[in-house]
Amino acid sequence: MSIVCKFGGTSLANAENIMKVKEIVKSNIERKFVVVSAPGKRSKDDIKITDCLIECYNLSKKGECYANTLGIIKERFNGLKTELNVKIDLDKDFEKLEEAIAKHEDYDYIVSRGEYFSARIISKFFGFKFVDASSVIVFGEDGKVDLDVTQDLVNEHMTEDYVVVPGFYGIDKTGAIKVFSRGGSDLSGAILANALKCEIYENWTDVDGFLASDPKLIDNPPVIKTLTYHELRELSYMGATVLHPSCTGFLKD
Ligand code: ASP
Repeated sequence: MSIVCKFGGTSLANAENIMKVKEIVKSNIERKFVVVSAPGKRSKDDIKITDCLIECYNLSKKGECYANTLGIIKERFNGLKTELNVKIDLDKDFEKLEEAIAKHEDYDYIVSRGEYFSARIISKFFGFKFVDASSVIVFGEDGKVDLDVTQDLVNEHMTEDYVVVPGFYGIDKTGAIKVFSRGGSDLSGAILANALKCEIYENWTDVDGFLASDPKLIDNPPVIKTLTYHELRELSYMGATVLHPSCTGFLKD
């Protein structure tokens, strides 16, 4: 059996959490495919890497200085490399990112780099193979994922077990990087679970599951243990932020 497991930004926000994620992944040999988000908030006042990337793009577009924000992004990834003792050279990729921000042309490419750097570091730390989302997830002209092409590419590129794939993006038919809507790493995980015909898709996040009501409004609501696909979809569409609302179709198939 194979499991696709996806870890969200809070679960990967710092080295300590990434070490915990490694333990979780390695505790079950069936966890062969790992999908990762960009590092999220380390505390209430922290900024998610994806938000920093969006800010760099916006500042550059307005002709304002983005050096500070870019510095924060580099510092966080370099910090993770040091703390996890991961030896990989990301300089060329950072240079490419800087050039793209300076030109402020390719929004999708820029905001996708959080997941890209995250997956490069984590794959090395786990000793897993890195498979870029741009080599497996393809969008059609209608802006939706082309499942047939994606299936063929997954068959071609994901032949080995124990891989890490960045979530949140793929490529379109022109070869340009394209991102999903926010929270889209859940979708990458669901699409890969579908294409890999995995029996189990695990979506690891920083809450215990779907709660019976909003914990900000009601104290200690119970966790709902089992949901039908229909209920899952309804709850996600109604605003439960646990899972991206468009995941269910891929998972149900
Ligand atoms: N990093 C992206 C976001 O913040 C995608 C994700 O985490 O799923 O929306």
